[in-house]
Amino acid sequence: MYDVIVVGAGAGGLVVAIGAAKGGKKVLLIEKGRYGGDCTNFGCIPSKSLIASAHAAHMLTHAKELGVETSPFSFDGAPALERVRKIVDEVRSHEEPQALHPFGVETMEGTASFKDKRTLQVGDKEVSGKQIVIATGSSPVIPPIEGLEGTPFLTNETVFDLKEIPKRMIFVGGGPIACELAQAFSRLGAEVTLIGSHVTLLQREEKEAQEVIQTAFQKEGVSLLLGCRTERVAYNEKFVVDLQGKSPQTVEGEALFIGVGRRPHLQELELEQAQVKYTEKGIVTDAYGRTSQKNIWAIGDVAGPPFFTHYAENQGRAVLKNLLLPFMIKKSRQPIPRCTYVDPEVASIGLKEDECNPKKIAVYHVPFTEVDRSITTGRTEGFVKIITKKWSSKILGATIVGPRAGEMVMEIAVAMAAKLPLRKLSSLMHPYPIEGLAIRKAADKWLTETILGAWKPK
Ligand SMILES: Cc1cc2nc3c(=O)[nH]c(=O)nc-3n(C[C@H](O)[C@H](O)[C@H](O)COP(=O)(O)OP(=O)(O)OC[C@H]3O[C@@H](n4cnc5c(N)ncnc54)[C@H](O)[C@@H]3O)c2cc1C
Repeated sequence: MYDVIVVGAGAGGLVVAIGAAKGGKKVLLIEKGRYGGDCTNFGCIPSKSLIASAHAAHMLTHAKELGVETSPFSFDGAPALERVRKIVDEVRSHEEPQALHPFGVETMEGTASFKDKRTLQVGDKEVSGKQIVIATGSSPVIPPIEGLEGTPFLTNETVFDLKEIPKRMIFVGGGPIACELAQAFSRLGAEVTLIGSHVTLLQREEKEAQEVIQTAFQKEGVSLLLGCRTERVAYNEKFVVDLQGKSPQTVEGEALFIGVGRRPHLQELELEQAQVKYTEKGIVTDAYGRTSQKNIWAIGDVAGPPFFTHYAENQGRAVLKNLLLPFMIKKSRQPIPRCTYVDPEVASIGLKEDECNPKKIAVYHVPFTEVDRSITTGRTEGFVKIITKKWSSKILGATIVGPRAGEMVMEIAVAMAAKLPLRKLSSLMHPYPIEGLAIRKAADKWLTETILGAWKPK
């Protein structure tokens, strides 16, 4: 009998397995596929590696904008795909059994399914645990498009196996995954068409952020077909995709990527055998990360959106504490920062403007055209937008669109966690001339716009 069995060796599962073993528990980690899960093998690591190469290609082809003349040249993006695979192997090598055994984590390969609330079947073996942590992640949603099944379309699980950059690529999906990869492949030389069912990209973000990204994509030559329904797919050496938008259209390409969403990976678990409750959104958990069974926990994508590595890890850490400590600790209720790694990056935290009562808030908007560092780098297309309670300047939410927005949003995250009102960031010295000065400028506006603005003669 193990103290703890973890099902799924991804972002969340690894945190619990390693931490519990370090805490002296007898731990078994079960993995049916590649150790490291989605993030390492098919998600964050390969996509961010590809994006780094795409950035290099973009800098080469756009050097002129920074005053660097180049002679006519061509480049080949195929080695970037090889580089992606090498990086994935490198990261995974720290997450594979030989790296886990020294911590005391026992590993088992195979698909786990419940027999009862303490027993799992893995192939022809049965294993039992006092505590069981489900961390089986999510899988890509494949929409029921006529003709799609049986064609060699790509998802995040196969796109990084490509040996060449396809000449023409069609992306179906307007969310973070499709947007990041569409821009990266376009920069690496593919002719990209992106088909989105919504009329905007990055549906969950502020309208102004969507506009900046759409403009950036169009400027770079990504063809956007938004507000379109993908009706039919045919494949014969190349893909032919029929769409219905304002009018019917047909798009052709050598590769078709489907990135329309994720669904919790519940298949095979046989949750009914353990009477663990779930919905189509994922396994139902309480404030401590426990499922409907007191000894069974669920973390990460399988416990429902949002689907982020940092969220999976954070949930893993919370459950880990509950497995190790004699008292229970609730999961973090801090707002979850997020970043979409398109260029410019879109990072956000907390509430959006349309989620707030307009009478009770102040919105501070600083475009990067007003920030010296952004002017020097020629990256003035984005902005910082911070939403606060009107008088107290308590931060409710923020959106940043800029080349390093993911790093910048953490200043806001820290302020929110420390309950620092925005006005306090006004007197915080920021090194000149970082892009982060946009946040200080937004903080200055509490005094100039909200307080002094209230006294202005009408
Ligand atoms: C293209 C892409 C890019 C992404 N980029 C980012 C990003 O930049 N930042 C970010 O925060 N998030 C990103 N994500 C999301 C991130 O990858 C996931 O949120 C994260 O991996 C979830 O971790 P997890 O532990 O819940 O699941 P996973 O990491 O997916 O691990 C689940 C593991 O469980 C295994 N498993 C499933 N069922 C069983 C079973 N029955 N028995 C045994 N093993 C099983 C699977 O094989 C898998 O290895 C991205 C996702 C994609 C697809």
